[in-house]
Amino acid sequence: MTPDKYDAIRPYLDDMSMILEKMLMEDTDNAKQVRYSLMEISKALGPDFAVDLNVVVQAFASRDQRALPLVELGLSATNGDTPYSHAADCTPQRYIVGGSIHVVPHDRCPKCWQPWMNKFEHPTCEHCGITLGRDCKVLLDRDTCPHCEEGQVSMRTPVCDVCGYEVDPKMVTWG
Ligand SMILES: [Zn+2]
Ligand SMILES: [Zn+2]
Repeated sequence: MTPDKYDAIRPYLDDMSMILEKMLMEDTDNAKQVRYSLMEISKALGPDFAVDLNVVVQAFASRDQRALPLVELGLSATNGDTPYSHAADCTPQRYIVGGSIHVVPHDRCPKCWQPWMNKFEHPTCEHCGITLGRDCKVLLDRDTCPHCEEGQVSMRTPVCDVCGYEVDPKMVTWG
């Protein structure tokens, strides 16, 4: 997704995520009934199953048949326990791919939009084969560590103060 499109939708994403989570967890009759049903389903299915209710807002590009999740949250229940809420971390990551900038959630491939976990340890996307350092680079325009998203890195101090990850200039470029 291009940065201007992402910037245009971003203000709505945080709001939606917060509101949807509230809707699932609030004390209305409907929300309580949904949580109760999840709990009962998980009780009936027993300990071998987890029961999930997922709410996903995604951008679907019909031309190339790829979908990018923008908000992901839901409820999970196992073994008759009270359902708990969960939310995926869709923190955006910028990449340079073929000379242009693309923004996707940090655990997604900038080319095919499929999940791409631990991209620094596994620099090739298993879905489309794009390879960090060869076909694309992570574009850092802030000093948050791209590995743990908690510590700080900079051009001058490329080692993260929290996780020890060292920015590899073959895979990362500063913007
Ligand atoms: Zn891919
Ligand atoms: Zn780190």
